[in-house]
Amino acid sequence: MSKLINGREISTAVKARVAKGVIDLKAEGISVGLAVIIVGNNPASKVYVANKKKACEELGIISEEYALPESTTEEELLALVEELNNKKSINGILCQLPLPSHIDEKKVIDAISPEKDVDAFHPHNVGRIMIGDYDFVPCTPAGIMEMLEYEGISVEGKKCVVIGRSNIVGKPMGMLLLHKNGTVTICHSRTRDLKEICRSADILVAAVGKAKFVTADMVKLGAVVIDVGMNRVDGKLCGDVDFDAVEGIASAITPVPGGVGPMTIAMLMQNTLTAAKKQNNLI
Ligand code: NAP
Repeated sequence: MSKLINGREISTAVKARVAKGVIDLKAEGISVGLAVIIVGNNPASKVYVANKKKACEELGIISEEYALPESTTEEELLALVEELNNKKSINGILCQLPLPSHIDEKKVIDAISPEKDVDAFHPHNVGRIMIGDYDFVPCTPAGIMEMLEYEGISVEGKKCVVIGRSNIVGKPMGMLLLHKNGTVTICHSRTRDLKEICRSADILVAAVGKAKFVTADMVKLGAVVIDVGMNRVDGKLCGDVDFDAVEGIASAITPVPGGVGPMTIAMLMQNTLTAAKKQNNLI
């Protein structure tokens, strides 16, 4: 039997830490604020935004939601970002992706002040992650590192294989594992011998977006398996890993739901607190 890495439990610990940080700042007369922008009616995005708002409320972070209609122009959105960049009570700005196709996502990400870029998508913050000198880390990879640390799983010297090379998950995940002295391989859709590469992994991270993509024959006995995938199959949430087959081969594994998912929001809260501290010269 594999050890279950419980994202709900670990995210609760992270959120308790953040809540304490928010209280400490309040004692110094500083409030923490997050602005969340959503454009259009994407149902999944609406759920994500609602969950982020709820987490803010739980932790004493002030959240401002800007729900804009699908017809919002790029200029209007950029003007709002600029307004929020200059708004003192807002420490973090998050623009929920994807944006409608008539808006250039890259332009919007570039417009967010790097100091308020709590998603860590701005090229300035991406570059800082590359050189290992960063304040914010994209929330999902940051959450995974937190899980490994919480479970006492050392990365140093381990063979780490990440399947997926997105800017949001795969690439920053690879960099964070590298900074912890893992030996990292990042795989993608053109990778040859994927099965063999995965089978060599001590730590295997699956961020593919395909249900049950990682099968038992891709996992080394005793490997740690982190499942980032959030796929809907017959209305049911399911990961990128064939959990039933891999559980028992892996020494530890994250479930879906209840694994990486809850960590992502907790790390967003953590990044917002960090932003508030930085902006008030407390770190
Ligand atoms: P993405 O941008 O679609 O990237 C998927 C990656 O998988 C790409 O790099 C792609 O390779 C690679 N890939 C696709 N088919 C492959 C194959 N047959 N063999 C090897 N690699 C393959 O997705 P993402 O944004 O990184 O998200 C990945 C998954 O994580 C999704 O299910 C998403 O919903 C989930 N997610 C979960 C959380 C959370 O909080 N739990 C957060 C973010 C994302 P190419 O680059 O060559 O196309």
